[in-house]
Amino acid sequence: MTYTIDPVGIIHSCFKEKFAIPRQPQLATAARGRLELFPPFDQPEAVAGLQAASHVWLLFVFHQTLEEKPRLKVRPPRLGGNQSIGVFASRATHRPNGIGQSVVKLDAVEPGQLMLSGIDLLDGTPIIDIKPYVPYADCVPSATNTLAMSAPNLIEVRWDQKAERQAEEHARRLAEPLKELITQCLAQDPRPAYQHPTPDRRYGTRLWDVDVRWHYPTPNAITVLEVVVAQS
Ligand code: SAM
Repeated sequence: MTYTIDPVGIIHSCFKEKFAIPRQPQLATAARGRLELFPPFDQPEAVAGLQAASHVWLLFVFHQTLEEKPRLKVRPPRLGGNQSIGVFASRATHRPNGIGQSVVKLDAVEPGQLMLSGIDLLDGTPIIDIKPYVPYADCVPSATNTLAMSAPNLIEVRWDQKAERQAEEHARRLAEPLKELITQCLAQDPRPAYQHPTPDRRYGTRLWDVDVRWHYPTPNAITVLEVVVAQS
């Protein structure tokens, strides 16, 4: 049987590229976005009462990694990228039907939109449903997962003085916690586990309308080198 699913909205996110997006929500509390609701869900009736919840579940489509042929096994970055496990044992983006789920903080309910933080979603992600987080049912204090028992280890993030000033200026212009966002995302160490870059290798990604560039002066530290307005 085939079902057709129409998005109820779309995310306008701080993350303009997949690279350096945290691998789960809540890991970067400064990661903010706006969920634009599509008609008829842009009417106040559709979100009446939602402000009672501090967090919401978002169900969404991994629209940038949809594939024709379903995979049975995947190699999660969390396991170093060289160990394969069943697709249903992972939260990989390559999965049947390409459906993702994230618990995110609901900062405000506004006409036709929800203001969110702690997101792990790419800009333009189609949202297929929104549900309030229900603590007594959704939080399982005794839960275990031996493949991912705790949040990933963090790496030290240092700032070049010029980059720090640039980040502070753009943060003021955007009225966003940009420096915190960069620090929180880079602390997750976005490089693939198999890469052991020399200090001259540069990495970059786009957050809001700025390009952020960094390098690894040592294997266990990042220095942010530049935060400049994106050219294209
Ligand atoms: N929390 C969700 C889940 O468990 O279903 C997502 C987990 S997935 C491992 C998180 C990664 O998905 C992010 O690091 C980002 O690179 C990627 N991602 C986010 N939005 C996406 C989209 N719309 N299309 C493809 N990949 C996306």
